[in-house]
Amino acid sequence: MYLKNSKIIVVKIGSSLIVDKNKKIRKKWLSSFAKDIKKLKDRNQKVVIVSSGAIALGCKKMNYNKKNIKLDQSQAIASIGQIELMNLFSQTFARFKLNISQILLTLEDTEERRRSLNAKRTFENLFNLGFIPIVNENDTIATTEIKYGDNDRLASRVTQITDADTLILLSDVDGLYTRNPKIFKDAKLLKKVKDLKKDLRNVNIKGMNEFGSGGMQTKIEAAKICQLAGSSMVIANGLHNNPITKIIEQNECTWFSPKVSKLDARKKWIISSIAPKGEIIIDDGAKKALRSGKSLLAAGIKKISGKFNKGDHIKILDKKNAECARGLSSFTSDEIIKIMGHHSNQIEKLLGYVSKSEVIHKDDMVEV
Ligand code: GLU
Repeated sequence: MYLKNSKIIVVKIGSSLIVDKNKKIRKKWLSSFAKDIKKLKDRNQKVVIVSSGAIALGCKKMNYNKKNIKLDQSQAIASIGQIELMNLFSQTFARFKLNISQILLTLEDTEERRRSLNAKRTFENLFNLGFIPIVNENDTIATTEIKYGDNDRLASRVTQITDADTLILLSDVDGLYTRNPKIFKDAKLLKKVKDLKKDLRNVNIKGMNEFGSGGMQTKIEAAKICQLAGSSMVIANGLHNNPITKIIEQNECTWFSPKVSKLDARKKWIISSIAPKGEIIIDDGAKKALRSGKSLLAAGIKKISGKFNKGDHIKILDKKNAECARGLSSFTSDEIIKIMGHHSNQIEKLLGYVSKSEVIHKDDMVEV
């Protein structure tokens, strides 16, 4: 099953799981959720949580009604509530010896290449430190035009950026039904969706928009992003205690399977990028290594041109100037000038700091 084999898991929780209809914080539930996360961590799985609830908790503190607040007001309310949300997480998770950190993202942070690569690196560093990043949209600065507005799609972008294997969308419904289960008794839960067009042909998504803040529509859009990123996604009912254990044990939910492999998705993303920022000319030995699927090392670089940053899209040429590959550089052009022609174990000495050993990692490279 996907969940057990997933190395990186993103879990999205909606506001209704944090605060109930009577505006009471669901503390017992949050503890049971933390216990589930602890189990994943004990199995060495890396976890990111995307949590809503800033506005709901801000409204609770200020005694406002969510329905009556305007956008600029909601930005201030989110700023107040976000601290409440993180306090809640840090107190609850500390009881399970889980360390958390906060990442607030805007639409641009995930859609713009350089910024999403920066975010990716931050996630990786937090994983290495053993911390659980807790993500929310940066509601305090996001205005309507530049706003996700729902954490379903934000969570699917986080899944893509972190190269996660699975996204769990915990909602207040068991999954995707053939019809609205609140109205139709004969509505059936779809257990597995492979092809969004074919499998959902007869499903009235718009008729189910009362579920969660973005409704079913944003969840299907999130599934589309996950499928193309090579990740699985599951919509499950998060209202029960220990919601993740419940998915593993009972599987009463809707799974969306990936359409492509994660590696293929990433390579497509590399090639589809804006114009390359520079060129690296390599020797025959390095060319042979690339052809056999290896990473590009500093030793095989003969010359570079252009000024570029870490994460920029670079062309790789052979010594006759014929293009052989494209990839994302792990070093800036200035750094490569210092290390080219040298063995990887010299990099730290030449730069004066610890760095990656590959100039372009094989997973960040596509042969052309
Ligand atoms: N970012 C919003 C919040 O934390 C919620 C968005 C959503 O519910 O999808 O209050």
